[in-house]
Amino acid sequence: MSENLQNAIDFAFTQGLLKYNTSFQLTHAPFALMPYNIEGNTLNQMTILTPFFNELMLKVANNSDFLREHLHDASEVDLFVKNLLNLEQNSEAIQPYQMMITRSDFMLAEKNGSAGGFIPKQVEFNMISNSFVFLSRQIYLLHKYLYETQQLEIEPVEHNTLDNVVEAMAAAVQRYGYPESSMLMIVQHKEQNLFDQRAIEYKLLEKYGISTVRSTLEGVAANGRLNEGHLYLNDRLISLTYFRAGYAPEDYSHPDAWKGRKLVESSSTIKVPTIGMQLAGAKKIQQVLGKTGVLENFISEAEAVLLKETFVGMYSLDEEIENRSAIETASSHPDDYVLKPQREGGGNNYFDTEMVAQLKSLTREEQKAYILMERIKAPVHDSMLVVEKEASTIPCVSEVGRFGVCLSKEEHFIFNQDAGYLVRTKSEDQNEGGVCAGYACLNTLSLPQ
Ligand code: ADP
Ligand code: MG
Repeated sequence: MSENLQNAIDFAFTQGLLKYNTSFQLTHAPFALMPYNIEGNTLNQMTILTPFFNELMLKVANNSDFLREHLHDASEVDLFVKNLLNLEQNSEAIQPYQMMITRSDFMLAEKNGSAGGFIPKQVEFNMISNSFVFLSRQIYLLHKYLYETQQLEIEPVEHNTLDNVVEAMAAAVQRYGYPESSMLMIVQHKEQNLFDQRAIEYKLLEKYGISTVRSTLEGVAANGRLNEGHLYLNDRLISLTYFRAGYAPEDYSHPDAWKGRKLVESSSTIKVPTIGMQLAGAKKIQQVLGKTGVLENFISEAEAVLLKETFVGMYSLDEEIENRSAIETASSHPDDYVLKPQREGGGNNYFDTEMVAQLKSLTREEQKAYILMERIKAPVHDSMLVVEKEASTIPCVSEVGRFGVCLSKEEHFIFNQDAGYLVRTKSEDQNEGGVCAGYACLNTLSLPQ
């Protein structure tokens, strides 16, 4: 192993750039050793959009009728969506403070026309369980260390998602008004990305003296209770509930898990996210928001214009694309579309021949639980990827996420801002993007030097 690679791996282990692999052995998180270089104006464009996206999504989340109208058909064939819809209620009425920790994921696409250059296109807007709050900071620190010791030629763009997110959490706890209260982190039984969660907990305690309780949803059902609307877990008052689980049907495999979710939802704890927020992040909702005239019902026309520049075509399966049925068009151009069900967490989408086969096998009813999305063709760049201590330099594509945080009272923002970035770099021939699933490597951004 080269000395530089060993230095990088030592840093990763020392600074907690870690995860469990699929056999639950401790390893470093996969990382890249070449920052993703983008133009300053592209970076700026993504960054300034964060508060507008937050504003839009909060309004969508609080619009129960809109969510029901557009998710009804999917819920008829997707029990998970149905269960979520059944629990959805007017959460503002229970708790006027609302908080979101979001992440808008983009890939760059070539600009149309002669001017050249790239424009950010949105892959999806994440409303629940946004990972890499801590690890995205640690990969920045790793690249900074390598740069300062002349082991990396390019300076990474600074950001500190961890501090921004923890500061926002502390503000929410303080607004709730009970200084001795705790944050509840909803977690899975076994978590590969454990350290990314625990670092949030330690920072919240160290900086703000706020303690965290970790629990599964069934744990909440077993150990939680309501008292005058407040949520107590093992007699600790919970002011803020932060979900790092609950986004996938598997998180509800225990018979009491939905009971736990219901208890949280009906309590006055500030929820990141509420069920409405989670549903607003559905792919179906993303598709509907892209239709002509829909955004303008929620935000100003000027803001809508800016957001729409980042949208690519999204379709329901009963629509037409280019004068043919969406299914025919996508099946005859499998390289140009992605088929997505109403799921989060990676590994659920269909690409290429699998997409064609799935489109063929879906019944008319089942089709309603899916959407088609134009494939974003991100520019290929070389990067050195380090996975399980092995380095290889290969052609890659990168995806940039912008974190956002906001706190509102009765839909008036107390703060609403961008909170830093995540870069995931993966082999060009890899379709999906998950880091812990083993598809992608953590990276940083750099600007032309
Ligand atoms: P999930 O909610 O499971 O994370 P995403 O919509 O983010 O679902 O898709 C997962 C991954 O698939 C993305 O990180 C990206 O790498 C790839 N992907 C999704 N949509 C597109 C698209 N329209 N074009 C190209 N790649 C995509
Ligand atoms: Mg995603």
